[in-house]
Amino acid sequence: MGVFTGRTALVTGASRGIGRGIAERLGRDGARVAVHYGSNGAAARETVAAIEAAGGSAFAIRADLRAPGAARTLWEEFDRHADGLDVLVNNAGIGSTRPIEEISEEEYDAVFAVNVRAPFFILKHGMRRLRDGGRVVNISSGLARTAAMPDNMAYAMTKGALDVFSRDLSKILGARSITVNSVAPGIIDTDNTAELLHGSADGWKRAAALSALGGVGTPAEVADVVAFLASHDGRWVTGSWVDVTGGSLT
Ligand code: NAP
Repeated sequence: MGVFTGRTALVTGASRGIGRGIAERLGRDGARVAVHYGSNGAAARETVAAIEAAGGSAFAIRADLRAPGAARTLWEEFDRHADGLDVLVNNAGIGSTRPIEEISEEEYDAVFAVNVRAPFFILKHGMRRLRDGGRVVNISSGLARTAAMPDNMAYAMTKGALDVFSRDLSKILGARSITVNSVAPGIIDTDNTAELLHGSADGWKRAAALSALGGVGTPAEVADVVAFLASHDGRWVTGSWVDVTGGSLT
C-alpha cells in the first residue's frame, strides 16, 4: 500500500519534464493519475505507460490551456475517467525569454493564459470535484523571487501571480481541510531549459554555479517535495512558498 492508495491525482503538463516526474512519483505511491497534456499525445502515453509499468494506474487527458474555455474542456475529459479527485498539481507552464523591448502582446497573453488563467479556472471549475482533505500544489518558479534573469520578466510575473493565487486560495479551501501551496523550482533539466543548459559549451556549468548545492535539479527532486505536500504528512502546511531551487536564491 502506498501513501496515495485510493486517491486520484491530476497533474497538468504531465507528458514531459517536471509534470511527468510528479505523475510518476504519485503513481508509484499508489495514486490513480490523470496525465494531462496539451499537444504531445505520444509523450503523455509514455508517461501513462511508465506509471503502469511500475504497477500503477493512470489515464491521459488532453486540453490546450491556451484556448479560451480550456478548464471546462479539461474537466469534461477528466469526468470521463473519474468521479472526483484528491490531489491537483497545476504544473503545465510555458516560458518567455523575450526582453520587454521585443515581447509582443500575443506572447504576453499566451504566457499568462497558460501559467495563470488556466490554473485559476481549473480551480474555479474543479473545486467541487476536489474532495475535503485534498491538496493543491501550484508549480511556481524561483524567478518569482529573484531578478537574476530580467529577460524572463513576463514569465516571472506569471509565477508571482500564481503565488498570490496559492496564498489566497489557501484561505478559501482551508475550511475544507484542503491545503494549497506553491512549489518553486530553480533550474531543472527539462525540454524547457534545453537551450539554456545545452545551447552553449558552458551553459550547464553556469546554471549549476547558481545553486548552493552546485548542481542542476531533476524532475524527481521537485516531485519528492510535491509528494510530501500532497501526503498526510503535509497536512499543516498551507499558503506557503516552498523553495526548491537548491539554494539558488541565497
Ligand atoms: P516542459 O518540459 O516544457 O513541459 C511542459 C508541459 O506543459 C508539457 O507536459 C506540455 O504538454 C504542457 N503544456 C505546455 N503548453 C501547454 C498548453 N498550451 N496546454 C496544455 N499543456 C501545455 O516544462 P517543465 O520544465 O517541466 O516545466 C513545468 C513547470 O515547471 C512549468 O510551470 C514551469 O514554469 C515550471 N518551472 C520549470 C523550471 C525549469 O527549470 N524547467 C524552473 C522553474 C519552474 P505537451 O507535452 O503536450 O506539450
